[in-house]
Amino acid sequence: MSFKDLHLIKPLLKAVAASGYAEPTLVQQRTIPFVLDKKDVIVSAQTGTGKTAAFALPILQQLYDKQDAPKKGKKIRALIISPTRELAIQIQQNFKTYAEFTNLKSLVVFGGASIEPQIDMLKNGVDILVATPGRLLDLHKQDYINLDYVETFVLDEADLMLAMGFIDDVKKIDRLCPEKKQTLLFSATIPYKIEELANTILKDPERIDVTPTKSVAKDVSQVLYYVPKQSKIELCLHLMRNTIEGNVLIFRRTKYGVDKLEETLSKNGFAVNSIHGDKPQSERQNALNKFKNGYVKILIATDVAARGIDINELDNVLNFDMPNVAETYIHRIGRTGRAGNTGKAYAMCSADEKSYVKTIQNAINVQIPVETEHPYPLDPKAQPVVHKRQGSKYKKGRKSEASKKKKKRWY
Ligand code: AMP
Repeated sequence: MSFKDLHLIKPLLKAVAASGYAEPTLVQQRTIPFVLDKKDVIVSAQTGTGKTAAFALPILQQLYDKQDAPKKGKKIRALIISPTRELAIQIQQNFKTYAEFTNLKSLVVFGGASIEPQIDMLKNGVDILVATPGRLLDLHKQDYINLDYVETFVLDEADLMLAMGFIDDVKKIDRLCPEKKQTLLFSATIPYKIEELANTILKDPERIDVTPTKSVAKDVSQVLYYVPKQSKIELCLHLMRNTIEGNVLIFRRTKYGVDKLEETLSKNGFAVNSIHGDKPQSERQNALNKFKNGYVKILIATDVAARGIDINELDNVLNFDMPNVAETYIHRIGRTGRAGNTGKAYAMCSADEKSYVKTIQNAINVQIPVETEHPYPLDPKAQPVVHKRQGSKYKKGRKSEASKKKKKRWY
C-alpha cells in the first residue's frame, strides 16, 4: 500500500516523500482511513510504530480541506494532549514537518518553561495546538486559550497519562471542548482504566490494535549480565570502556539513580547527560538535543522521561536496573534497532532482580543470552537481599518493636 492509496492530498504526499517515507506503516494504514472518515478511534500502538503520523496526517488533511480561515485570528481546531514535554515537542515537530506545504500552523505549550512566550505565540492564532495537560488548563484559565472550535481531540500515550495522574485533567479538557468533535485515543496498552476512560469520552470508536505486544524487534540483540548490586557501577564502567560501541541510552528506575550514575560516569571522564522529571525543561531538551546530535554519547534516563522520545540511530540500550514489568523492558530495548538498523540491548541483573528476568523471558518467549565473561560475576547461589530481610525472623516477631520500625524505614 502507498500513501496515495490512503487518499492523502498532494501537499501531504509531498511532505511524506520529503521525510523519506516509502510506504505507510501498519498503524498508519489502519488508522488514517477511519480518521479521514471522522470516526473516533482507540488505537493501541507503541512509540516507534509511526503513530504520530497516523493522526497528524489525516488531521492536517481535514483542516486543509476547510482552510478558509484568514492567516490572523486562526482558531484551535485540533488539540493534541501528551503527558510529557519532550513528547509534546516531538509531536509538534512532526506536525510542522508534515504541514510544510500547507499554511496550517501548529504550536506546542508545556509546563516547566516560561509562559509568556507561549502566550505571545498563542495570540498570533494557531490551527493545531499540542499541549501538556497542566499548562493547557493554566492557559485556558487565564483566557489565552479558547477550545470552542476544536474539531479533533487527540489523547496520546493515554496509559502514561493515567500513570502520571492526569486522568482528571484529561476529562476536564474533554469537557472544555465542544461535545461534537472527533476524539482519537492512542495508548501503548489498554488496561481497564483506559477502557473506562474511552467509554466516557469516545463515541462508538473503531478499535485498532497494532501492538506486537510481548515481542521484541528482530534487529535487537540482547545480552544479560548477572552482577552483584554493589558492582553494577563497576560493570557499567567496564562495559563503557571495553564493550559498548557508539551511543547508549541508559535506563535507571529512579531519578536519584540517574543523578548518581551521571556523577560517577562524569568523574570517570565520560561525557554524559541525563533526563528526568525533576530537571528543568530547558536542561532536559538540551541534554536530548546533544545526544541526538551526537555531541554526547551517553544519556541516562528514567522510563517516564524517556517515554516516547524518538532517537534515530540509537546503537545501544543499557538496562542498569532490571525493569520489573516486561512491557517496560520491551519499550526500553525497542528504542534501538529501529528502521532497519541493528541495535544492542544490555541488561544488568542483580540477585534481587532475578525474578524480573524470569517474568520478562516468559513474556517475550526468548531466553536472553547471558554473558559470563566479565570481571564482576554474581555468585549463582546469591540470594535476593530483600527476601532475606523479610525472612521468617521478622514475621515471627523475634525482633523488638524498635528494630521493626528501623527495618521498615529501609523499604
Ligand atoms: P512515532 O511512532 O510516531 O514516534 O514514529 C517513529 C518514527 O517513525 C519517527 O522517526 C517517524 O519519523 C518515523 N516514521 C513515521 N512514519 C513512517 C513511515 N511511513 N515510514 C518510515 N518512517 C516513518
